[in-house]
Amino acid sequence: MAVGEKVFGENAVRVRIAPSPTGKLHIGTARTAVFNWLFARHHGGAFVLRIEDTDVERSRPEYTENIREGLTWLGLTWDEGPFFQTDRLDLYKAAIQTLLDQGSAYFCFCTEAELETLRADQEATGQAPRYDNRHRHLTAEQQQAFVAEGRLPVIRFKIDDDRAITWNDQVRDEVTWTGTDLGGDMVIARRAPFGEIGQPLYNFVVVVDDVDMRITHIIRGEDHVANTAKQILLYEALGAEVPLFAHTPLILSPTGKKLSKRDGVTSIEDFRKMGYLPDAMVNYMTLLGWSPPDAQERFTLAEAAEQFGFERVNKAGAKFDWDKLNWLNSQYIHDMATDRLTNLLIPLWQEAGYEFDPLDRLWLEQLTALVAPSLVRLNDAIDMSRYLFVPTIEYSEEAIAQIQQDDVVAVLQALIDRLDGNAPLDETGAQELIQQVVKAAGVKKGVVMRSLRAALTCEMHGPDLIQSWLLLHQHQLDLSRLQQAQAQTSRN
Ligand code: GLU
Repeated sequence: MAVGEKVFGENAVRVRIAPSPTGKLHIGTARTAVFNWLFARHHGGAFVLRIEDTDVERSRPEYTENIREGLTWLGLTWDEGPFFQTDRLDLYKAAIQTLLDQGSAYFCFCTEAELETLRADQEATGQAPRYDNRHRHLTAEQQQAFVAEGRLPVIRFKIDDDRAITWNDQVRDEVTWTGTDLGGDMVIARRAPFGEIGQPLYNFVVVVDDVDMRITHIIRGEDHVANTAKQILLYEALGAEVPLFAHTPLILSPTGKKLSKRDGVTSIEDFRKMGYLPDAMVNYMTLLGWSPPDAQERFTLAEAAEQFGFERVNKAGAKFDWDKLNWLNSQYIHDMATDRLTNLLIPLWQEAGYEFDPLDRLWLEQLTALVAPSLVRLNDAIDMSRYLFVPTIEYSEEAIAQIQQDDVVAVLQALIDRLDGNAPLDETGAQELIQQVVKAAGVKKGVVMRSLRAALTCEMHGPDLIQSWLLLHQHQLDLSRLQQAQAQTSRN
């Protein structure tokens, strides 16, 4: 689809997410996508996906795929795109030519070594590093002399030092920068033979794209504030209308530092693999920097879209709160229909190497219903269900201690004597059997229950005991477990 083909009306809101495919979809980018999506939906506008792949060395198709998959998984559907910047080089080069022609951009022949010396001098005298605009006014002869030396120029865009740049940020209110803070005239195209236009750079192509795609609101992380100041100058130079900007707070680690790879998981794929649900993830990400007026914590994307606006986006960084994410995830899991949850758990059990027939549907759904109330993440179901899949499992220390109590010998014997491993067993039958064993072994019901739990599940804590037993019984694993436990008692 061509840019803007989908018609949203003349003055419609148009926003975009513009990830660089130099890594997997990051939680920060995904959260920015959430805010863009919510804003677009709130206003009935368009959400555009643009892949910023001008950095050819670091961009990879598999990251583009990962970004598309991640956004789709989260339900952040886009209306237009994906557009790829590498398909649009002619557009950027034409725009650079316009700037060159009107004298707002020029060729700079400084070598890396010269720039390094400049930086070192500035550092030595305590100045902030900046380009000193020394090639702004080269004569044709000077340029030819550099060409004769074999130098390849970059193209720089002029930034006047005394220029004040002010915008009314939708989140941060009025923001002002001055030209001097922007590091001197900025490079907009990489080195190429004099007269040619080299690879255009990020800060420039973003503006050309946002103009061409008629983006009305640029919603992105606070780390882009300095870019915004530069980009506003580019809009002006290109004679384009400046869009509105909203800089959203950064996501911080639980200790308040910038969230980084060191915090463990940062890509959306990581969260998916850990067993977080997409609905819980987007719900949680929405709360990373925004709160709904009714202070609700749990909502769908569509519900949030109804209420979303910048007035409730925080200025301060948003600390990542694992407890809240876990709480939300568990809520979504507990409310999910057993059938759907079973479909999500089957592949996890398969990956864990458990052997079972996926068509044994009733048993699998009963198992799902059994573990669901205890799940925080989907992956918790792997360890939690292990005793129901694997014929022989290790006893925990606590379970062994229970099994080795004196009165348990009689309990296990009574159970083994009365249990017919092949006959059907239901809840009433199981309860009756327990009563019979209480009498036969002359112990309290609690002793029987604890012994059963230890023997059947090899743990002292876990999901409902009777339901676990019935599931084991259906797969004829209960009698052998009791015998396995008995072997543990007689060893002593
Ligand atoms: N490509 C930039 C990034 O991944 C985003 C640029 C923008 O939103 O303007 O950080």
